[in-house]
Amino acid sequence: MKKLFAIFGNPVSHSRSPLMHNSVFKGLNYNACYTRVHLLDGTKLRETFFKLKLSGANVTVPHKEAAYKACDEVRGFAKKVGVVNTIINENGKLVGYNTDADGFMFAIKEFKEIKNVLVIGAGGTAKALASRLVQDNIKVTVLNRSASRLKFFMDIVDECYTWDNFKLQKYDLVLNSTSAGLKDDELPAPKDMINDILNNTSFVADAIYGKLTPFLKQAHNKNITYKDGADMLLGQGILANELFVNNELKIDKIKYFMQKSFNL
Ligand code: NDP
Repeated sequence: MKKLFAIFGNPVSHSRSPLMHNSVFKGLNYNACYTRVHLLDGTKLRETFFKLKLSGANVTVPHKEAAYKACDEVRGFAKKVGVVNTIINENGKLVGYNTDADGFMFAIKEFKEIKNVLVIGAGGTAKALASRLVQDNIKVTVLNRSASRLKFFMDIVDECYTWDNFKLQKYDLVLNSTSAGLKDDELPAPKDMINDILNNTSFVADAIYGKLTPFLKQAHNKNITYKDGADMLLGQGILANELFVNNELKIDKIKYFMQKSFNL
């Protein structure tokens, strides 16, 4: 029987995940199809998943924490951070995973000697990425617009700030993990603060992909080496696909066909 997979998000029309996964399924003759679901209310994720008879799903902004709650069991890194981006239907039981964190490590491999990272944002993506960086003994500072989401980070990263009490340092890499610039033209922090931050970093990355965000535009104007979220997207997608097909397909073949979809 043909398996159906989907991505849940709001917004979700921008998502490249259907193209990526369908390219693998088609290229490797795997009997499955991947679609997108615009989900307004994260608490409806579980019932929508079953209503659509899905075999598995990815979850994007702003429902990754709701996805954690929707699962019967959570495995691996997702358990540590409370953030799920991949769900597998195991005989009617929803099992959650997080593939964003390792996808991100894959993406920043080309930036050598990363020892000190500023993560802007404190949402689900920031939780996964900051925790993963800490695991590799990298110094992490988190900067967020508001204080409430910083609670999670206080015990795990080196320093946490809001815009009001931020203390600038030198960084190897600054990452925008906020959704500022996704559907608007906003910077992830006030303009002068971003300017100072960019003057004190070697590399810049944005989790948002497929567009030059205002943040990346400023990095570009300052001749800083930067990358958008495309490689992170590819990395998390390959790992999610392996879970979808229950390791029936070879990872290098998944990578080949998924990468190919980026040229479409
Ligand atoms: P969440 O909704 O969980 O968190 C959003 C964060 O962004 C919060 O810290 C919020 O701050 C902050 N924020 C939102 N708007 C602004 C703004 N205008 N100015 C400053 N801060 C703002 O989102 P996620 O963590 O799930 O996703 C974040 C981004 O990462 C999205 O754009 C998503 O598309 C992208 N992403 C990309 C991936 C990839 O593979 N490339 C994978 C995963 C995510 P506050 O707490 O103050 O509200």
